[in-house]
Amino acid sequence: MSGLPASDKDWRAQCQAKCKSSFGLPPKIDLNQLARNNGSVAGVFPIVRLSRLVQDLPAQHHIRELADIEQDATGAVWYEFKGSSQQGRRPRVWLKVQAVVTLICQRCLGVMPFVIDETVEFELFPNEAKANASDSVDEADPDAPEPLVADGPIDLLGLVEDQLILAIPYVPKHETCEPAKTSAGDPVEQVKRESPFKVLEGLKRDSK
Ligand SMILES: [Zn+2]
Repeated sequence: MSGLPASDKDWRAQCQAKCKSSFGLPPKIDLNQLARNNGSVAGVFPIVRLSRLVQDLPAQHHIRELADIEQDATGAVWYEFKGSSQQGRRPRVWLKVQAVVTLICQRCLGVMPFVIDETVEFELFPNEAKANASDSVDEADPDAPEPLVADGPIDLLGLVEDQLILAIPYVPKHETCEPAKTSAGDPVEQVKRESPFKVLEGLKRDSK
């Protein structure tokens, strides 16, 4: 139970199917060309490849092979870049990224799996000056595309890493922290030893 959106299960499977030959090595690509062709690049790779991201995080789940991903979604990053070009406007690229990152709750210091599900739209510019001068980018509008200078092949890993870093809360906290378990009274064990009728009674009582 990772908490990744079930509705995107097929999307994640497609990412995995598309990257068999380059697991862990998303290529540098020309995003302008991707936009011109209305193309798509997708894949999945281990989160530990993102050194800037993981240097300040607790130990992340290591995924060694593509085949490991079905069993434990934690530690994998699924991504897709989709290009789009339309007459009369600058080329655009959408990045969709999903991952489960292991964080430490700052309230109870327990492990906290954190689901990331982000989509960002980039508007491509040939150089910095043009990107800065663009008046199509409205800073006040949160839905406005991000300006991105794409003057040649771009390191996809870096773009994905930036999005994950932005998505991680500065002070992570569980919505509700689990009470600390004592070694003497594991609640699951206690229920097992009781008669089924008592357990039912307990369930009824709790639901009132
Ligand atoms: Zn907590």
